[in-house]
Amino acid sequence: MTTAYLGLGGNLGDPIHAMAEALRALDADAQTRMVAVSPVFRTPPWGPVEQPPFMNACARIETARSAQALLALCLSVEAALHRDRSVRWGPRTVDLDVLDFGGESVRSERLTLPHPRMAERAFVLVPLAEIAPAFSVGGMGVAERLAGLDTTGIVRIDAPPDWWRVA
Ligand code: ATP
Ligand code: CA
Ligand code: CA
Repeated sequence: MTTAYLGLGGNLGDPIHAMAEALRALDADAQTRMVAVSPVFRTPPWGPVEQPPFMNACARIETARSAQALLALCLSVEAALHRDRSVRWGPRTVDLDVLDFGGESVRSERLTLPHPRMAERAFVLVPLAEIAPAFSVGGMGVAERLAGLDTTGIVRIDAPPDWWRVA
């Protein structure tokens, strides 16, 4: 089994519900188990496209899948939840990124690990810090790295600890 971290986000429809459905679908996979899920945070929209604010969360899983097979599962869960990928960094119902897979380094056309952009993204590191504050991102702990990032506008949503099981 490999311990992996996932980053989730969405800003169309009901993103909390979509993230919850995604996490339940992953947990239902015979080879994958949800170990810890962060609270949900509302975060300012980011990137070149004007769009609504995001909801973001992170999860720790254990999986018997390979990194490639885990990515394939994440992409199929996104597709089942009507993810439209026509605009890069545009609005989406749900996004599932593999942030880290047992510390493995991968650099292929379809998969890069650890996720190359997570170290500078407060919307990833704020929820990740809730479940893995000491986890090392490029040689620096999550909490420590966050101290150097702008977290303006990131707000924790009031939801039950097991929000993903009920939303
Ligand atoms: P970003 O990767 O900057 O967060 P995004 O999540 O909006 O952007 P997507 O359109 O969801 O980008 O993904 C584009 C492709 O990225 C996927 O089809 C997948 O093959 C590839 N990819 C590479 N590395 C990863 C990873 N670690 N996790 C998820 N997808 C990845
Ligand atoms: Ca992403
Ligand atoms: Ca993605």
